[in-house]
Amino acid sequence: MDYIIYLVCAGIVFIWSLIVQANLKNKMQKGSQMRAGSGKTANQVVEEMLRAHDVYGITIEHKPGNLTDCYSPKEGKIYLSDATYGRDSVTAIAVAAHEAGHAVQDKENMLLYEVRQLLAPAAGIASRVGPYIVLAGVLVSAYAQSGSDIGYTIGTIGIVVYFIAFLFYLVMLPVERNASNRAFKDMKEFGWVSNDQLSFARAALRAAGDTYAVALASSAVTLIRLLAIRNSRGRRR
Ligand SMILES: [Zn+2]
Repeated sequence: MDYIIYLVCAGIVFIWSLIVQANLKNKMQKGSQMRAGSGKTANQVVEEMLRAHDVYGITIEHKPGNLTDCYSPKEGKIYLSDATYGRDSVTAIAVAAHEAGHAVQDKENMLLYEVRQLLAPAAGIASRVGPYIVLAGVLVSAYAQSGSDIGYTIGTIGIVVYFIAFLFYLVMLPVERNASNRAFKDMKEFGWVSNDQLSFARAALRAAGDTYAVALASSAVTLIRLLAIRNSRGRRR
């Protein structure tokens, strides 16, 4: 029964992720064919936004590829993808302003942003290793002497490890929303896109934000599944 509930939840998240991906592509495409009303490029927008928030010492670089836009606090760089770097479309402006928003979060020492940065290096490893530790717990409990709860304990360790990844996605969602809100606010205030283009910019940012909600939901489903595995197989006997 547990497993069926898991399959249904995983299926729902999967279908949701397909819808979100399709919506993102659609919204990005719409805005990418629209030249921003201000005539400014994504690079100019990043520079203006950083200056407006007293952020200095950040360089902008081109990172070839699709959706490769990111802010690297370590390198002090904002990377912009093929569709963004030097481009003057509504989507390019929105994406660039969003990345600049991360640099502003960093400069202002926004708490959740700091937590995200702290969790980021561990989260990737934790999401891959955690499930294996839980499975190892199941194996161990199958071979352990009855009365031993070593398998259960190993399972718990795996769940704690995986929880770091879940926490990362949990923190990421409001951080991403906040960066988009900052981007939108400045886009409006500084007139980087015309008023009738604002709704397209917002739709693109929202669609991008939804991908983080999917990641969080998918991580929650995995976490619940791991708990069920530990409880059913690795239980104290
Ligand atoms: Zn972001």
